[in-house]
Amino acid sequence: MDNVELPVIRVAEVIKHRQLHEGRAAVPGGHIGPSDVGGCRKRAVYSKVGADKVEPDYWLGAAMGTAWHAYLEELVASMVYNSYDDLTPSAWVTEHEMNITLGSQTIHGTADLIVPELNLVIDWKTSGNVEWVKKFGINEQQALQGTCYAIGAAQEGLIELDKATVMIVHWDRSASQQEPIIHFFPVTQELMDDAVDWVASVTDTSDPESLPREAPPSFCYNLCQFVDVCRGQHEDEIDDAQDPEIVEAVNVIQEQKAIVKEANAVKKEAEKKLDHFHGGVVGDTKVGWVRVEAKTIQSYERAAYSRLQLTKIRRKK
Ligand code: SF4
Repeated sequence: MDNVELPVIRVAEVIKHRQLHEGRAAVPGGHIGPSDVGGCRKRAVYSKVGADKVEPDYWLGAAMGTAWHAYLEELVASMVYNSYDDLTPSAWVTEHEMNITLGSQTIHGTADLIVPELNLVIDWKTSGNVEWVKKFGINEQQALQGTCYAIGAAQEGLIELDKATVMIVHWDRSASQQEPIIHFFPVTQELMDDAVDWVASVTDTSDPESLPREAPPSFCYNLCQFVDVCRGQHEDEIDDAQDPEIVEAVNVIQEQKAIVKEANAVKKEAEKKLDHFHGGVVGDTKVGWVRVEAKTIQSYERAAYSRLQLTKIRRKK
């Protein structure tokens, strides 16, 4: 029975290998893809110059995203004429590989779904927690990525750019949110200019050290393969982050922590009031006591992981 887990471990190894080395998202070394545009420039330049990489710990979420994209591709391809008279799914274009010319540069990518009759480009996203997207919408990187696909689709004559709409659709990987979360926007000149500028700024330099860090540590330590060369193993410094999204994220976490702390205190008080209640039905809630028997819980080894830590700092006056 010692080897009973081996097949599963082997399957996990194969998934990880495919995701890291053969996956849909894997852009051949050093090439910039639409999903890079608007992200950390330093990372793109590290990739361009072939800096040393570490193997990321985080691969399962990406594998699930790849599987979901494959499922959607198959589903859309099998869709037939239905009650939407004006739509013809057979003319929709799924998983379409394209070259995208941005200024003097050409990048390569795969658009998830193009609906030519609506001048629409759809980018599927899977996310472990969609609450952030529901509350704050999509980020600049997602907007620029969608814009790149729209530009590519227009350059291939599939859509008209001045009438184009980009739709970013988030699916909740945890399945706690059953409906897709949809954001859409027109392709503006400003977005197109931003995409061109981003690509130009990355192709103009071969010195990643000359660029600032443009991603938060949570992204770097979990998702960036250049984290060692960029941030080193241990960083002991306090940056004053200026990125409004980071500032907002920290403020939201602190606010929510305060709310949870208060809510827990209130819940504890409420629970105390039930100490001598034997049980019964209260409104639509059945209340009762369940005996939890003593049990020896075996210890287990926990894999290393990165935990976000927010600590209040005192600033010198
Ligand atoms: S570690 Fe973070 S800041 Fe550095 S290159 Fe990677 S994503 Fe950018």
